Amino acid sequence: MQRTLSIIKPDGVRKQVTGKVLAMFEEKGIRTVALKMLHLTKERAMGFYKVHKDRPFFDSLTTFMSSGPVVVMVLEGDDVINRVRTIMGATDPKKADRGTIRNTFASDIEKNIVHGSDGPESAATEIPYFFSEMEIHAQ
Ligand code: ATP
Ligand code: MG
Repeated sequence: MQRTLSIIKPDGVRKQVTGKVLAMFEEKGIRTVALKMLHLTKERAMGFYKVHKDRPFFDSLTTFMSSGPVVVMVLEGDDVINRVRTIMGATDPKKADRGTIRNTFASDIEKNIVHGSDGPESAATEIPYFFSEMEIHAQ
């Protein structure tokens, strides 16, 4: 059993597709074990994406991520890290497979609706960045 952190980014909340994104995970049997809405400060968004601090898109990305509320969640299931990444689709929605979240809802490579941890080490740091163990409800 594995856990991953996912975020519905400000564009997803603004487009009112939160429920549809959750349904796309639930339909695949992935369980939501923690969920909340937050409005990230620029600093908290910078901390979250600090691996990208030297990339040219870092300032724009963190401004976008702090531009409105997000929905953060912990998802659980077998091989959930890879399965969530598959359901999300490629970073660039133009390259994302049909039927993926990003292909269905995203407008551009930055405003791409959803985040998912990219491996076990990222999941292990990203989950406690937003949730205490008491907020995670194993099922
Ligand atoms: P995420 O980490 O959000 O799940 P990802 O792992 O598919 O996405 P990363 O390479 O980690 O992609 O990039 C993090 C985020 O930075 C992307 O989801 C996107 O919002 C933004 N981003 C990535 N590449 C670019 C780019 N070339 N131009 C603008 N924004 C970008
Ligand atoms: Mg990433």
